[in-house]
Amino acid sequence: MDTAPKVQEALAPEARVLPRLLPKEAKPNLVGMSREAMRAALIEAGADPKQANMRVRQLWSWLYQKGVSDPEAMTDLAKPFRAFLSEHFRIARPEIVERQVSNDGTRKYLLRIDGGHEVEAVYIPEEDRGTLCISSQVGCTLTCSFCHTGTQTLVRNLTAAEIVGQILVARDDLGEWASAGKPLGERRLVSNLVLMGMGEPLYNFEQVRDAMKIAMDHEGLSLSRRRITLSTSGVVPEIVRAGEEIGCMLAISFHATTDEVRDRLVPINRKWNIKALLDACRAWPRLSNAERITFEYVMLKGVNDSDADAKRLVKLIAGIPAKINLIPFNPWPGAPYERSDWARIEAFAEIVNRAGYASPVRTPRGEDIMAACGQLKSATERVRKARVKAEAGGA
Ligand code: SAH
Ligand code: SF4
Repeated sequence: MDTAPKVQEALAPEARVLPRLLPKEAKPNLVGMSREAMRAALIEAGADPKQANMRVRQLWSWLYQKGVSDPEAMTDLAKPFRAFLSEHFRIARPEIVERQVSNDGTRKYLLRIDGGHEVEAVYIPEEDRGTLCISSQVGCTLTCSFCHTGTQTLVRNLTAAEIVGQILVARDDLGEWASAGKPLGERRLVSNLVLMGMGEPLYNFEQVRDAMKIAMDHEGLSLSRRRITLSTSGVVPEIVRAGEEIGCMLAISFHATTDEVRDRLVPINRKWNIKALLDACRAWPRLSNAERITFEYVMLKGVNDSDADAKRLVKLIAGIPAKINLIPFNPWPGAPYERSDWARIEAFAEIVNRAGYASPVRTPRGEDIMAACGQLKSATERVRKARVKAEAGGA
């Protein structure tokens, strides 16, 4: 139902000249609201408080189990209530602007969010699982010298709706929704979630937390807590809080074994150095062999990849139940580094492994579509439009 005229009438006369887009975007988005927030929003809009809890349960099921975004399709809701939803709320997800599929099956989505900003999400299918890599910010305030996103300044934080919305979009694209009589099974296409796209999740704490709560909730997207990993460059004061308030798995972008090198690679180290970071890791709640911390380590030729580095690394993290994820550097245009040779990566992995830590080397995925770790960066709209236009013309 098109309710725009009604909303326009309700606006002050001087506001009526605003574009029609505004009233639609100004309506609260039901996606991304916590149960409490949704309950309060429904009541504020005039819903019966006695029914609010039931309504929230029904809506969560439609939004997160069945993937429905049109209130008219919510068949167990009475017609007047569906109209009420359309009038007061929107159910919006990011819009796919471009979808690229790599020859290894990796899918990269360029998504447009409110305000015309763009973020990327990447789906990586594997034999026994499917991992969705999502963004938490448009750009990043930090400037890690090996990261493509780091060359783009922060545009804004994503809302919980936009973070959850990335998961909804991927499930739409993969057709992974429950339907009548067919609940979502145990084997999922999107089984794992990593906050390793654009942005520093711990600099957008509340929105990331609220989104992950919906991702983990068994009436929400019902992903397992232990299959969700938040990666941080080292926002020390928020690390333990993340363990307490979010409760997902933790990955640390470690990347160097001396403060001198880490200051250069991960500049947040100048604020919170290696010792402060490792102290926070040691204080991580529920730390155990079953819930180990992942230390990510990007392999940069001649910078951080020596045997001495590997030995220092295992000494530094001694006593922390951990896994070391070695990431071969993924190049991007103008990057000032090279990927370490495979023999060097293997020698490094061997030292770490002999010290008793699992040290998987992350296979670069989706490189042909610039979807690998650290390659994400949304170009300015103008540049992108020009390219899309040129490609369309040339096709
Ligand atoms: N901001 C967060 C999460 C996003 S980055 C963080 O820094 O942890 C996700 C991972 O990709 C991080 O470990 C990051 O260090 C790594 N990464 C960034 N650029 C990379 C590149 N060019 N090659 C390989 N890994 C990279
Ligand atoms: Fe930001 Fe993470 Fe890239 Fe560093 S590595 S610039 S924190 S996205």
